[in-house]
Amino acid sequence: WTLGHCETCGSSTRFVPQQTSLVQASLLVANLLAHMNYSFWIEAINGVSDLSPEPRRAAVVNITTNQAAPSQVVVIRQERAGQTSVSLLWQEPEQPNGVILEYEIKYYEKDKEMQSYSTLKAVTTRATVSGLKPGTRYVFQVRARTSAGCGRFSQAMEVETGKPRPHYDTRTIVWICLTLITGLVVLLFLLICKKRHCGYSKAFQHSDEEKMHYENGQAPPPVFLPLHHPPGKIPETQFYAEPHTYEEPGRAGRGFTREIEASRIHIEKIIGSGESGEVCYGRLQVPGQRDMPVAIKALKAGYTERQRRDFLSEASIMGQFDHPNIIRLEGVVTRGQLAMIVTEYMENGSLDTFLRTHDGQFTIMQLVGMLRGVGAGMRYLSDLGYVHRDLAARNVLVDGNLVCKVSDFGLSRVLEDDPDAAYTTTGGKIPIRWTAPEAIAFRTFSSASDVWSFGVVMWEVLAYGERPYWNMTNRDVISSVEEGYRLPAPMGCPRTLHQLMLDCWHKDRAQRPRFSHIVSVLDTLIRSPESLRATATVNRCPPPAFARSCFDLRGGGGGGGGLTVGDWLDSIRMGRYRDHFAAGGYSSLGMVLRMNAQDVRALGITLMGHQKKILGSIQTMRAQLTSTQGPHRHL
Ligand code: AMP
Repeated sequence: WTLGHCETCGSSTRFVPQQTSLVQASLLVANLLAHMNYSFWIEAINGVSDLSPEPRRAAVVNITTNQAAPSQVVVIRQERAGQTSVSLLWQEPEQPNGVILEYEIKYYEKDKEMQSYSTLKAVTTRATVSGLKPGTRYVFQVRARTSAGCGRFSQAMEVETGKPRPHYDTRTIVWICLTLITGLVVLLFLLICKKRHCGYSKAFQHSDEEKMHYENGQAPPPVFLPLHHPPGKIPETQFYAEPHTYEEPGRAGRGFTREIEASRIHIEKIIGSGESGEVCYGRLQVPGQRDMPVAIKALKAGYTERQRRDFLSEASIMGQFDHPNIIRLEGVVTRGQLAMIVTEYMENGSLDTFLRTHDGQFTIMQLVGMLRGVGAGMRYLSDLGYVHRDLAARNVLVDGNLVCKVSDFGLSRVLEDDPDAAYTTTGGKIPIRWTAPEAIAFRTFSSASDVWSFGVVMWEVLAYGERPYWNMTNRDVISSVEEGYRLPAPMGCPRTLHQLMLDCWHKDRAQRPRFSHIVSVLDTLIRSPESLRATATVNRCPPPAFARSCFDLRGGGGGGGGLTVGDWLDSIRMGRYRDHFAAGGYSSLGMVLRMNAQDVRALGITLMGHQKKILGSIQTMRAQLTSTQGPHRHL
C-alpha cells in the first residue's frame, strides 16, 4: 500500500497491554475493522534514541483483517407500489465488512410470516418484488451478505399493494385483451428464440436477481421455486430448494439444471465408480468455445424410477450452488432412458485417495490451504441451510491447483451410495466414523453435525488419508467416542489444528464452532505460519474399545496380543513392508513399539512419507498404551 492512503487508527483501537513503552515483544491489538488493511510500525527505542541524528527505523507489518458479516441495512425506502409489485431502494450497510456479494429481500403478508415467506436476491441496492396480491399489506426486510455470512435483517417495512379496480369499461377490456395477446405473442417468440439459443431453461433468469418462494401447494412459475414446509416450521434460513419437498419430484431438477444433448459429450475413459454407476472423464462441446473437460456420472442400467429420481436429485441440488469450493454442475442428460450428471472435471480426483498417493509430500501450509477450501465450501452450504450429512475426504474433490471442492449431494448419497455407511439400529445408513454422536443416535443432522465431520476430514488430511479410528469396528468407534475418546493428533500435526479438531468434536453440538469461525481460524493460521510450528502431543484420552480391539493387552506373551505386525501394517496401508519387518526380525508389535526413526530407515524403507507414517503410527500406539495401561509393560 502507498502510505499516502494511511490514516492513524481511531481511539477505539485497543492495544493490550499498551501501545508504547512495551518491554515484551508482543501485544494484542483489538477492535480493528473487518476487511481493512492495517500497517503496524514497530520501533525499538533505547535511552539515546532521541539524540540520534539518524532517521528512525521501524519494522512494518501489513495485515488485512478478515471479512465479517456486514452490519444491518438501516435505510430502506419504497420507490413504487403497484397492485402486484413493489419497488424498493436501500442503502449499503454502514460497515460492509467485506465485499457485498448480494442482498436478500425477505417478504411476507403481514402477520403470515410463519405460514409462508419469500426471498428475493439482488446484487444492487434496489429490487422490484412482483407476483404480489393486490390490496394486501406486505412486510419487507433486507439484509446483505459477504463471503463471511449474512448481516442482520433490516427493520421491517410495511407496504400495501394497490387495490384492484372493481369495474372495467369495454375500452379497458379490449385494451387488456390486446395487451394479453401481444404479451403472449412476445412470450412465444422469446420461448422459440431461447430454445434455439441454448436448448435449456434455467430457473434464475435474471442476471442480478434470483428468487425463492416458500409457499404450500403451488406449482412453480418460471422464477418462483416452491418449497413445502409444514406451517410454522419454516427453517430460519434455508435458501435452497430440496427436491423431495416437491409434490411432483420430477420437476424438482428442472429449475436448476440444464439439459445437455448427449451428442455433445465425448466420453474418453472411466475414472471411478459408485454404487449408482460409473464416473467417466470426457469432453463437452460448447458451441463457439473450446471443448471443456468434464466428469460424467451415469446411472447404471436396470434402474427403477425412484433410483433415477434420487440419482438426478443430486444435480438439482448441486445446480443451486455457486461457490468456488463446491463442485460445479454443467448439466444433465435425461432424454429417453439416459440419466447422466455432468460436472466440472477435478484432475486430482477424491481427496482421500489423492493424499494417500502423495503421502508426506505437502507442507502443513498446503494441507491447511486444502482444509480452508473445504471449510469455505461448507460455510457457504451452512449459510444456505444445507446439511451435507456425508462430509468426508472421499467426498471432497481436488483440482489441478490443489483447490478442494465439496461434492456428493443428493438424496441417495448417504442412504445407498457410500460404502462407508452402515445401518444403525434406528434405521438408515450412516457413515459412523464421520458422524456426530447425536446424529448416529437420534438422526439429528445439522450444520453442527457437519462441523463434527469436518473435524474428521481435518484429521484425514493431516494423516494423509489414514482411515479414522484405523481398524476399530463401527461399534467400538461409537462406544469409544461415547466414553470421551477422541482421535489423537496425527504425527507432525500442529497443536492449533488438533485443538480445532477437538473443538469440532465437542459432545454438545451447541459448543462446536460454526463454519464461519473455522474458516477465520484457518485464515489466521495461514497468515501467521509460526502458529503452526508447535506440534501437538498425542491425545491422552483413553480409547478403551480401541485398546481392547487392537492390543488385547491381557494376552501377554510379550507380543502385543491379538494384533500381528502384518495386521498392523495392513491397517495403516503399509502392508507392502511386511517382508522388510520380517527380514529385520520384528516379529511382534512389542518389538515394533521400541523402534525409532533410525530402525525404520535401517529396514530399507526409503520413502520419507512412509517412514513418517510408520513412525507416526508407532507413536500413536505408544500413547494409546501409556494412557490405558501405563508405560507399555506387557510389550
Ligand atoms: P462418486 O460416485 O461421486 O463418489 O464418484 C466416484 C469417484 O469418481 C470419486 O471418488 C472420484 O475419484 C471420481 N470423480 C467423481 N466426480 C469427479 C469429478 N468431478 N472429477 C474427477 N473425478 C471425479
